Amino acid sequence: MNEIDRAYPEGKPLTRPAVPAMDQILGRKFPMLDHGFIRVIDYMGDEGAIVQAARVSYGQGTEAKSSDRGLLRYLMSHHHSTPFEMCEIKLHVKLPIFVARQWIRHRTANVNEVSARYSVLSREFYTPAAEDLAPQSLTNKQGRAGGYSPEMAAVLQGLITDACNSSFNVYDAMTKEVDGPHAIYPLSRELGRIVLPLAAYTEWYWKIDAHNLMNFLRLRADPHAQWEIRVYAEKICQILQDWMPTVYEAFCDYVLNAKSFSAMELGLLSAYLAKPVNGPEHAGMTARELQAFKDKLGWA
Ligand SMILES: Cc1cc2nc3c(=O)[nH]c(=O)nc-3n(C[C@H](O)[C@H](O)[C@H](O)COP(=O)(O)OP(=O)(O)OC[C@H]3O[C@@H](n4cnc5c(N)ncnc54)[C@H](O)[C@@H]3O)c2cc1C
Repeated sequence: MNEIDRAYPEGKPLTRPAVPAMDQILGRKFPMLDHGFIRVIDYMGDEGAIVQAARVSYGQGTEAKSSDRGLLRYLMSHHHSTPFEMCEIKLHVKLPIFVARQWIRHRTANVNEVSARYSVLSREFYTPAAEDLAPQSLTNKQGRAGGYSPEMAAVLQGLITDACNSSFNVYDAMTKEVDGPHAIYPLSRELGRIVLPLAAYTEWYWKIDAHNLMNFLRLRADPHAQWEIRVYAEKICQILQDWMPTVYEAFCDYVLNAKSFSAMELGLLSAYLAKPVNGPEHAGMTARELQAFKDKLGWA
């Protein structure tokens, strides 16, 4: 009897895979930035589902030969990604619109966003904390670097707050005619929203499989990502760790904290390191990983 038949014994009722650490946080709001949050609404599958999908694909040969941990690490290190797509997570996220614009570029998720045609957005907008304000970086055109005195930070925060409040004053005046008697210039909600700042908060349900989630985290938990989206990504990393600790460990080892080398860099590296690397204990690598490293360097 193979692994899959054992998982589905005929005549026995099945229970859905559950991860206690995830069940404990279902629905709990984790605060993000000044008005945002992230929470897990639901999840499907666990590490066992990934292992099982891989064994469907590799057949019985993998049963005895590899531990679940070894198999998960093999899948991750060899970009065998489809088994990870067997698991999904649904998050409820409240985030500033400028963060949402970066986030929505990840096309492999399913999204339902609050409609500002249908409802009036509340006066909530992102004001960076003093320590998160910084001038334009001189070396990174997409980034910030340095900091401000407390006095200067307070001035900048005041400018941001005043500009956003001013936009919301106009927005409220134009859109609150349905909800209250104080509208000055009644306008449809779908047009009134065009004056809202990018700092205004929106909300969505975001559902994605574990493979594409890790692609999102690879890009957005990276130091090159804007800090405001990175804090969300870092929280999702913790959630992934709760959900799939072995997968998360493999993701950190082979993706998040790993680096790839260009052919030129490999040539240089190989020349620098032109000495034997021995033993499976080297840098904690297995014999197979050590061989893969040697292959990269063109060593026998
Ligand atoms: C630090 C940083 C800076 C960035 N700066 C900019 C910028 O200045 N301007 C800008 O426009 N964007 C920018 N982006 C967005 C970036 O170009 C990607 O759009 C975004 O990171 C989503 O990545 P993705 O396509 O891998 O994700 P997903 O859309 O989730 O796609 C996952 C994978 O699925 C495949 N895929 C999905 N859809 C298609 C498709 N239609 N055709 C082919 N393959 C597909 C691809 O292999 C892709 O890698 C930036 C991203 C980062 C992280």
